[in-house]
Amino acid sequence: MFFSKMRFCRFGARAGSLSAAAALLACFGVATAAQKPPPEPPLRPTMPATKPAPAQPPASAPAPAPPPAQPQEDAAACLAKLSENGVVAVSVPAPPAPLPDCSSVNPVRMSVIHLASGTSLDLPGKPIVNCAFAVVFTDYARNLLAPLGASMLGSPLVALDTGPAYECRPRNHVAGAKTSAHGKGIAIDLAAIILADHRRIAIAHPSDANETLFLQTMRHAACGWFTTVLGPGSDPSHAEHFHFDILQHGSNDRYRICE
Ligand SMILES: [Zn+2]
Repeated sequence: MFFSKMRFCRFGARAGSLSAAAALLACFGVATAAQKPPPEPPLRPTMPATKPAPAQPPASAPAPAPPPAQPQEDAAACLAKLSENGVVAVSVPAPPAPLPDCSSVNPVRMSVIHLASGTSLDLPGKPIVNCAFAVVFTDYARNLLAPLGASMLGSPLVALDTGPAYECRPRNHVAGAKTSAHGKGIAIDLAAIILADHRRIAIAHPSDANETLFLQTMRHAACGWFTTVLGPGSDPSHAEHFHFDILQHGSNDRYRICE
């Protein structure tokens, strides 16, 4: 409305040949337009008034603070879960971490896994791993490795030769390489399986076709529990043992390296 009146007034001012009545009307129009401006300006302030609202998010942006960790509660809950699963393990102090990328979270030392069959698996290496990894490894040992072995080999498994598990070192002991998953408490090696009939099945040296098939089967199945499964044939560093870890490859934990 205000605009249309302004345009009309200018038109009238240029048209000098218009009649006096027309000019008067034009001037009257200008005059009324000039008197009315005051009530209209208030409309403008209301427009920008709505814009500052979206500008508020930045003020609330710094509000979200990182959630604090609860390592103590997690440690207790994890140990309880291991105990429920028949695993004998104790919490231990953080092991040495001479390399900057080495770390451990709720480290535990495992010694025995009681099986559903009533027998048990000894872990003479007393491996130290993060408690969360202990849950994964012992679940694999209890629910796949032990029953599969007893079924395929005709004798219950009584021990696993794992070594110490945690070790702060570069991958494959190569200086300058990335830190091994062993240095993060999320890896374990398996060099041999001992049976109740005193057989010792070396991972790299099965004595017959049945043992070979068992080792192949447990190795393939391990990919259901771990993100990395390496062993004889993968590379020279793993020629004599299986390596299991839960290192995340890529953006999620679904990617597997099973060689
Ligand atoms: Zn390893």
